[in-house]
Amino acid sequence: MGTGRKINTIAAVIFLTASILLLLITSYGLATVDGVYHRVKKGETVSLISHVYGVDMETIRKVNRLPSSMRIRTGQKLFIPGAEKAIKIEPVDREIRYILRCGTSDRWEYIVVHHSETTEGNARVFDKYHRTKKHFRYGLGYHFVICNGTYRRKDGLIEVGSRWRKQMDGAHCKAGNGNRIGIGICLVGDFNKSRATRKQFESLVRLVSHLCYNYGIPLENVKGHKEMSGAKTDCPGKYFPWEKLRKALRERGCK
Ligand SMILES: [Zn+2]
Repeated sequence: MGTGRKINTIAAVIFLTASILLLLITSYGLATVDGVYHRVKKGETVSLISHVYGVDMETIRKVNRLPSSMRIRTGQKLFIPGAEKAIKIEPVDREIRYILRCGTSDRWEYIVVHHSETTEGNARVFDKYHRTKKHFRYGLGYHFVICNGTYRRKDGLIEVGSRWRKQMDGAHCKAGNGNRIGIGICLVGDFNKSRATRKQFESLVRLVSHLCYNYGIPLENVKGHKEMSGAKTDCPGKYFPWEKLRKALRERGCK
């Protein structure tokens, strides 16, 4: 090999090494971009986006040069500093807005999920049962009932109980102080014998994710009745899809 060729080879090696280094630096730089873009969907507010991403409103406002009114529009792209990936926020519809308007209190620490242990039912049926058979003075012990298409209620319908509308204690779970600090949600069905319907599951995910966003309830505090400390029950049944629920909630930004 002549001197000329040797120099050429050395130059080629240096060039190649430098290229690889540059590539590594660039891709590292791209991988550590400190934030993501979130596209605003109908019904979303800066307050909701701030809750979901865990980034305070003022930071979002400043970075995106929003007006002090915090007005945003559907389709707008907002930069969320510090976020690692865009989160799919559950749609905010009229029903959810109404539910959240009722809940002004910051007392809720848990979400306790039940099954009705009956194949049929609705909020009215359970209200009557709780008043007459269980002698609950304020009737329906749950805050919410998610229907399964029986008793003339649409499959997946979320019925809001008066205890939620009035922000009262529940009567659904004595264990772990659940009645006082837990939001009680009952799905109609006996999940030791059958499974929740797809629509019930979707409504549950929508309701629970917004309750978590709004009241800062951590994912680990979304529990089945039987998981509450000291509970002696198998509610909400062996077929309740816990893994699927937790996965769906995580995907929606619940932590
Ligand atoms: Zn229960």
